[in-house]
Amino acid sequence: MNIILFGPPGAGKGTQAQLLQDRHGLVQLSTGDMLRAAVAAGSELGRQAKSIMDAGNLVDDDLMIAIISDRIDQPDCANGFILDGFPRTIPQAEGLDRMLGEKNLKLDRVVEIEVDDQALFARIEGRAQETASAGGGQRADDNAETLKKRLAVYHAQTAPVLPYYETRGMLRKVDGMASIEEVSRQIETILQAA
Ligand code: AMP
Repeated sequence: MNIILFGPPGAGKGTQAQLLQDRHGLVQLSTGDMLRAAVAAGSELGRQAKSIMDAGNLVDDDLMIAIISDRIDQPDCANGFILDGFPRTIPQAEGLDRMLGEKNLKLDRVVEIEVDDQALFARIEGRAQETASAGGGQRADDNAETLKKRLAVYHAQTAPVLPYYETRGMLRKVDGMASIEEVSRQIETILQAA
């Protein structure tokens, strides 16, 4: 089974992807994690991506599609994968469709974790305060600003991808305001019906 977990930063995609990975043996493909690993390794990709990520903007579509395409070719993805943080733009969604077609693969479901902006802002502020109490007030403010920027980028560039999957009958929604266990239960129900 190949699925997309969709939702704004702070919605809990990573947490739910981990649970699905453990329960179903699907592989979590987080483009954010891949980019952070490239930054940590100091690779050419990491050098290109770092300033874009620090500003809360999006890395180039063609680059992201190429990274995901290579990753899906790895043997561990044969049982299925969970896309976490990809696609983030309409060109990425179109590129994904093309690429999966070429590989004779298909998507089974797109699950949107719905969380309202007020709650996300509260989570963002909470994280900033945690960072501040861990040391470095100014830095925490910068962090909160970046997270707010990422939320704005989500609304401008990523949320418009939802109708792409809705018109194809693939989109299902879960209540991201519920507990981790309840969100997980809702996702399981959706996948069982797929
Ligand atoms: P995430 O951990 O998914 O929130 O991603 C962290 C950052 O990595 C994002 O704010 C973007 O700068 C970059 N990034 C992750 N995934 C993508 C993607 N699919 N397209 C473009 N940029 C991405």
